[in-house]
Amino acid sequence: MGYNKTLRITLSTDQKLVLASANPGKIKELQQMLGGLGFTIVPQTSLGIPDIEETGLSFVENSILKARNAALLSKLPAVADDSGLEVDFLKGAPGIYSARFAGPEATDATNREKLLTLMRDVPAEQRGARYQTVIVYMRHADDPTPLICQGTWEGSIAFEERGDGGFGYDSIFEVSDTNCRAAELDKQTKNKLSHRGKAIANLLLQLQNH
Ligand code: IMP
Repeated sequence: MGYNKTLRITLSTDQKLVLASANPGKIKELQQMLGGLGFTIVPQTSLGIPDIEETGLSFVENSILKARNAALLSKLPAVADDSGLEVDFLKGAPGIYSARFAGPEATDATNREKLLTLMRDVPAEQRGARYQTVIVYMRHADDPTPLICQGTWEGSIAFEERGDGGFGYDSIFEVSDTNCRAAELDKQTKNKLSHRGKAIANLLLQLQNH
């Protein structure tokens, strides 16, 4: 079920949420998903909140660290998304290290290039991969029961780049059961199918019952 089909939350006021990310691709997608539902998304960068060091060893730990940092410094409820790409042939790498796969100065382009090089001689049937995300919602920095929502999107690593939408690894991520790269999908379709779209759909359901 897509995030935009599940429900429309009626909020008494325009609820402000700080978004614990500096990644423009993620911010854009989360604004598209949450903006129409009565939330005003405030990226933490616009409040001068710096990224916290991601010292966790799992998406869930890092997502909680990010949300807590943003809630603490903004005094607003916070949403964080810690995500990445798991490649079967690489035993789950780059995983939580997806953003910095090619090193501390990595860009989306150098990360894709590194992955394509590592996968150059790997046959089609061993190129399975998936995007993972854990989205955390915290009402405040001391929230003892943060909402934690996971989303997964199955696919495989292509042999070369195609498409110019999305961000990160999208131009080399072939979506399962399609001949499409994630970067070739229009934004509504990506937001409906993606790991992020699924996690947000789940978050909205949990918020409704909260
Ligand atoms: P984070 O900021 O540590 O969560 O880094 C997430 C990284 O995973 C991003 O920088 C991208 O490289 C990758 N990633 C996560 N979600 C997506 C997506 O929807 N499309 C493409 N790459 C993604």
